[in-house]
Amino acid sequence: MDIKKIREDFPILKREIRGHKLIYFDNAATTQKPLCVINAISEYYKRVNSNVHRGVHFLSDMATDSFEEARKTTKEFINASKAEEIIFVRGTTEGINLVASSFGEKFIKESDEIIISAMEHHSNIVPWQILCERKKAVLKIIPFNDKGEIIFDEFKNLLSGKTKIISLVHVSNSLGTVNPVKKIIDYAHSKNVPVLIDGAQSAQHFKIDVQELDCDFFVFSGHKIYGPTGIGILYGKEKWLEEMPPYQGGGEMIETVTFKKTTYNKLPYKFEAGTPDISGAIGLSEALKYLNRLGLANISEHEKQLLEYGTNKLMSIEGIKIFGTAKEKVSVFSFLLGNYHPYDVGVLLDKLGIALRTGTHCTIPVMDIFKIPGTVRASLCFYNTKEELDYLVENINRVKEILN
Ligand code: PLP
Repeated sequence: MDIKKIREDFPILKREIRGHKLIYFDNAATTQKPLCVINAISEYYKRVNSNVHRGVHFLSDMATDSFEEARKTTKEFINASKAEEIIFVRGTTEGINLVASSFGEKFIKESDEIIISAMEHHSNIVPWQILCERKKAVLKIIPFNDKGEIIFDEFKNLLSGKTKIISLVHVSNSLGTVNPVKKIIDYAHSKNVPVLIDGAQSAQHFKIDVQELDCDFFVFSGHKIYGPTGIGILYGKEKWLEEMPPYQGGGEMIETVTFKKTTYNKLPYKFEAGTPDISGAIGLSEALKYLNRLGLANISEHEKQLLEYGTNKLMSIEGIKIFGTAKEKVSVFSFLLGNYHPYDVGVLLDKLGIALRTGTHCTIPVMDIFKIPGTVRASLCFYNTKEELDYLVENINRVKEILN
């Protein structure tokens, strides 16, 4: 991959911040957008803007075609078997809430059990807690080891006849761990338990094939995969989506409405109440096509090199501790520098033009397990370079001197 050339696709990367070249290491929070995505959204509003599905006029047809084309692009991107299995939602958070609410309404009853892991983002904890409270069900937690790897045997012990669903993060946003989801799905299915995969941090790093994984649900966010904010994807196997009740009521999701009885639309519209984020879906689809052009395998390879290089470089800094050292990892570095508060380190690095994140990264339980207030997190993606990592390491040393 010609990274120098690829960086030209991202106008924001040319910015200077406080007199320094921007180094953007906050990709797990949100990724930057290539020009093709920005242009697709802008062109849509300049030339097409109309509501979808219900108009008879030219522009409405055009908007509908582009919107449904975006669904097909997404279907192919994750290799779903049908476009009807692709539901447009606001993001990962809404996708998980939809499943917890709707699947939960139909299939969860008192004293049933739901399994998640100890490294979930709050978005994959709280919706299940709300459901458990509503249905008097029980939430069970798979622990992880010191490296941040899920303990498979513990997972096996948690699975029982009462388990109704497992909801698991594919890649941890605070530790970088890539979980062995295929192994977990296969084992869960041997006990007839469905599995939801939170792909918020995986789909942008390596190829996802939902048929090969055989997951029952898969969710991800547009803005973390080089697309716009406000759009995300819920993939669900047709057999589940057919059985689940609607999540929200309104236009689009109905077949007919009378004051006596309302019947619901077919998939995927049953789960898409109201006017959807049309420009968001179009922008997301452009982002996915862009990734296809770069090639997910090339992206993974470059990011693997950044991970190796960055790990070695960071480990050379005296007093640094990296959290998340799993064998299978993406290019995320979560660390603490001596006893300095992560916030102080982050603020000083920002003054030097380095954008990264400090705090709990919406995984407070992970920080509690390590007994730390939070970490400094540098999360890299394919447009990052080894030179940027050198600059980070150089400036962590500078920050150390300043704090000393
Ligand atoms: N799950 C994981 C693993 C995440 O990293 C995030 C966001 O950081 C989310 C869920 C929530 O994503 P969103 O805020 O886009 O809904």
